[in-house]
Amino acid sequence: MTPARRHFFSRRGFCLCCLGSATFAATGGWLTPSQVFAEARNLVDLIRSEAAKAPIKMHKLRSNVSVLEGSGGNIAVLTGSDGKLLIDAGITASRPRIVEALASLSSDPIKHLINTHWHFDHADGNEWLHGEGATILAHENTRKHLTIAQRVEDWKFDFPPSPFGAIPSDVFAADRIVKVNGSTVALKYYGPAHTDGDISVAFTDADILHTGDTYWNGIYPFIDYSTGGSIDGSIHAADANLAATTDRTIIIPGHGRPVSNRSELNDFRDMLVAIRDNVATLKKRGRSLDETIAAKPTAAYDAKWGQFLINPAFFTRLVYEGV
Ligand SMILES: [Zn+2]
Repeated sequence: MTPARRHFFSRRGFCLCCLGSATFAATGGWLTPSQVFAEARNLVDLIRSEAAKAPIKMHKLRSNVSVLEGSGGNIAVLTGSDGKLLIDAGITASRPRIVEALASLSSDPIKHLINTHWHFDHADGNEWLHGEGATILAHENTRKHLTIAQRVEDWKFDFPPSPFGAIPSDVFAADRIVKVNGSTVALKYYGPAHTDGDISVAFTDADILHTGDTYWNGIYPFIDYSTGGSIDGSIHAADANLAATTDRTIIIPGHGRPVSNRSELNDFRDMLVAIRDNVATLKKRGRSLDETIAAKPTAAYDAKWGQFLINPAFFTRLVYEGV
């Protein structure tokens, strides 16, 4: 666990990932669905309040591309004379530390922002970044979700419509090529995956792929059924990410250790497929959600993947919903 990760979700003097681990230990890793709901209810507030004090950690990759870790989803930055391009906006409360980190890279102004999808931990900072001068580009479904009030059922949270400045002014449906700072940035819609608006962002010259939340490195992912996500769509997107990369590609996941590779991505894909099959088998036999959670269909993977925000019972529930 990196120092940044250790503090990432802490609040009221304790740390959510440690709390998760403690809960995991105390219950053998298994919560009832109502306990899962109770834990999930305040995830949004927890993430927001933590971002208010979390440090921003910078990882320089190659060809003027860097990653900022510590404000919601991992933020990629491409610097250059056309102005900085950011992939995802993080949490608004991180603004001073993001400004500081960006200034340490170069004096280029912030001119371009691309959202990988609509979730608040990737788009909360849209408004201030737009105020700094960034134009915002995203998939058309991302704009749709940001424009209206949006409930995420599995977080039991209602998001209000975003302010005008936070709404992407440019959208696309299938793919888009952006030429900026002498680099080619290729955007591609996954189809419904983690939400119904996820896109991949490929820095083609640098051979770096930002997957948004279709890939969580070393931790169980969230899947947002409220806005079109599903386990099968998530697996389809993982396959697309494998097809789009080689052993040389640097892969930036939406969450988890921010500098990843195809081997780790392959482990993620295999984990999704195995757990999907386990849960589908139990559900086909007529097991209820509670019975399926009690059968521990994720057990072989929990030590590695279940130590963070989405714990084994929560992830089982997300998979059960879609099989
Ligand atoms: Zn997300």
